[in-house]
Amino acid sequence: MAATTPSTLRIGYRYRPKRLASRYDAIVIGSGMGGLTTAALLSELGWKVCVLEQHYTAGGYTHSYERNGYEWDVGVHYIGDVGAQTRTRRMFDFLSDGNLKWAPMDAEFDRFYVGDKVFNAKAGKQEFRDNLIRQFPNEQAAIDEYMSLLASSGSALSALGMGRAMKPWQQSIAQPYLNWKTPDVFFRNTYDVLSELSDDPDLIAVLCGQWGDMGLPPKQSTFLVHAMIARHYLYGGYYPIGGAWKIAESIIPKIQASGGEVFTYATVAEILVEDGKVRGVEMKDGHRIDCECVISSAGVDNTFTRLLAADVVKQTGYKEKLESVQPSFAHLGMYIGLAETAEQLGLPKTNYWIYPGNDYDAAVSAFLEDSQAPFPVVYISFPSAKDPDYLTRHPGTSTIEIVAPAPYEWFAKWRDKTWGKRGEDYESFKAELGERLLEHLYDKVPQVRDKIDYFEVSTPLSTNWFGGYRQGELYGLSHTAERMQQKWLRPQTDIKGLWLTGQDILTCGVTGAMMAGMLTTMSLVGARKIAPLMKRIYN
Ligand SMILES: Cc1cc2nc3c(=O)[nH]c(=O)nc-3n(C[C@H](O)[C@H](O)[C@H](O)COP(=O)(O)OP(=O)(O)OC[C@H]3O[C@@H](n4cnc5c(N)ncnc54)[C@H](O)[C@@H]3O)c2cc1C
Repeated sequence: MAATTPSTLRIGYRYRPKRLASRYDAIVIGSGMGGLTTAALLSELGWKVCVLEQHYTAGGYTHSYERNGYEWDVGVHYIGDVGAQTRTRRMFDFLSDGNLKWAPMDAEFDRFYVGDKVFNAKAGKQEFRDNLIRQFPNEQAAIDEYMSLLASSGSALSALGMGRAMKPWQQSIAQPYLNWKTPDVFFRNTYDVLSELSDDPDLIAVLCGQWGDMGLPPKQSTFLVHAMIARHYLYGGYYPIGGAWKIAESIIPKIQASGGEVFTYATVAEILVEDGKVRGVEMKDGHRIDCECVISSAGVDNTFTRLLAADVVKQTGYKEKLESVQPSFAHLGMYIGLAETAEQLGLPKTNYWIYPGNDYDAAVSAFLEDSQAPFPVVYISFPSAKDPDYLTRHPGTSTIEIVAPAPYEWFAKWRDKTWGKRGEDYESFKAELGERLLEHLYDKVPQVRDKIDYFEVSTPLSTNWFGGYRQGELYGLSHTAERMQQKWLRPQTDIKGLWLTGQDILTCGVTGAMMAGMLTTMSLVGARKIAPLMKRIYN
C-alpha cells in the first residue's frame, strides 16, 4: 500500500514561538468560521489577535485539501442566503472585503431519493412552496402553515442569539420578550410539529430531507434548528468560487491588518487559569503565551474536557453542565477524483440525499443496531460542478464527495494510531465501507462507473485527527431541544477572560458559526462599542 501524501494546499502561517508578537489583545483557539469571524471583527476594532490552529491549514471545517491532482472540501457543500444582500451575505462580504464570490447551484439544488420516490427542493420561497404543492396537491394548507412557521423562525433565532449575547442580568430583564419571540413550538421535536400539520409521511420526509445538515433525524431534532436550516436554503444553495478554502484565505488579511496572525501547527494544550482568571495558553511544545482574553472556538467539549484543568471545570460547575449535552454523530467522507470534467460526465449542481424509506428515525435506529443495515442517509455532492473556477486549478478533472453517518465506536480500536498508518485492517474496513457508498453513487449516477481515477475514505478518526473533535463529531454538540435551551452555551463563560464561539454557541453550519463569531464579539466588547461596526456592515 502506497503511503498517502499530505495535502500541499495550506493557508495560514506555520507557528514557531519566535514568530509570535510580544503581546496580543486576544488569543483565539481554532481557525474555523467561528474563530476567524471573531478574530476578524475584533481586528476591525483595533485588537491584535493571535489565532492558534492545530491543523496544518487554517479554516477548520472550511478547509480544503489536495491530493493526486484533485481538490476536495471537508465541511462545505453549499451555503444559503448569499444570493442577495442578506445579513449573511453582508457579513461574508465584510469579512472577506468583498473577495469571496458565490456561484449559484441548480434551481433544484437538493434532490431527495426517498425509497423509490424522488422529490426536489427548488430555490426561491414561492418556487419552493409551489413545487411542494405540485408534489403534494392535497397538502396545500399544511404547506402554507409550514411556510408561515418558517417565516417566524427568523425572529426566534435572532432572539435566541440576542439572549446568548446578553449578560445574565440583562437576560433576566429581557426574558419575557425573548420568550415571546421563541414560542414553545420551536423547542418541540421536528416530527411532532410537522405531524400536526400533515399526516402524509412522504411530505414530512421531504420537509425533513435536509436533516443531515444538522445531524439529527426528525424525531430527535428541535424544530428551531430544522426551521433555521430550511430557511437558510429557501433561496437555494451557493458555492464559494475557488473552493471552500477561499473562505479562510479571504478573511485572514483582516486579522493581519491590525497586527494579528493565524498560526497553523499551533496546538493549544491548556488554557491557563490562575486565581479564577485566564492568564493565557500553554502550547503543546510547552511555550506559554500570556494574554488575559482567550476565545475558544475549539468546541465546548474540547474546551471543558481537554483544555481546562479538571479542578477549574469542577469548581465553575461546567462538569455538571456538560452532562446536558451530547456529541453529534460522526461520519464517513468519500472523496472521489475523475479524469473527465463535470460537463463531460454530466454531473449536476444538485446535492443528492438518498434515503432507504420515509421513516428516517427508524432507519437510523436500524443502522445503529446493525452495521450491515442500509445507510440511513447517503449524501452525494459534486463540488467541481458547482465551482466555475475548478477547471483552472485542476484542468480536465472533476470531483465527487459522499457523506454518510458512521459511529465513532466502529473505529475506536485504531484511535491511538497515526493518520495514514493505521494498518491493513483499518484500510480494508474503509474499503468495504467505500464499496457500499460507491454502489449508491453508481445507482444514481451510472455514467461514472469505470470513470473513477482515485478515491479515499475518511472516518471519524480523520475528523478527530484534523479537526480535533474527540469522537469525530460532525457538528460539535448534538442539536437536541435540550441543548438548544442550555443558557450556559453562550459566549461569556464563568471563568473571567474566557469566551466561547463557533457552532456550539448557536448552531452548526458555516453561517451558524459565523453568527456565533459576531455574538461573541458583541458580548466581548459590548453593544455600544460594536454598534458603529454593525452599522458599517449592515447599512
Ligand atoms: C461533512 C460536513 C459537511 C458539512 N457541510 C456543510 C455545508 O454544506 N454548509 C454549511 O454551512 N455547513 C456545513 N457543515 C458544517 C460547518 O462546516 C460547521 O458547522 C462549521 O464550519 C463549524 O465552524 P466552527 O468554527 O464552529 O468549528 P470548526 O470549523 O470545527 O473549527 C474548530 C477549529 O478548532 C481547531 N482546534 C481544536 N482543538 C484545538 C487546539 N487544542 N488547538 C488549536 N486548535 C484547535 C480545529 O482544528 C478546528 O480547525 C458541514 C460539516 C461537515 C463535517
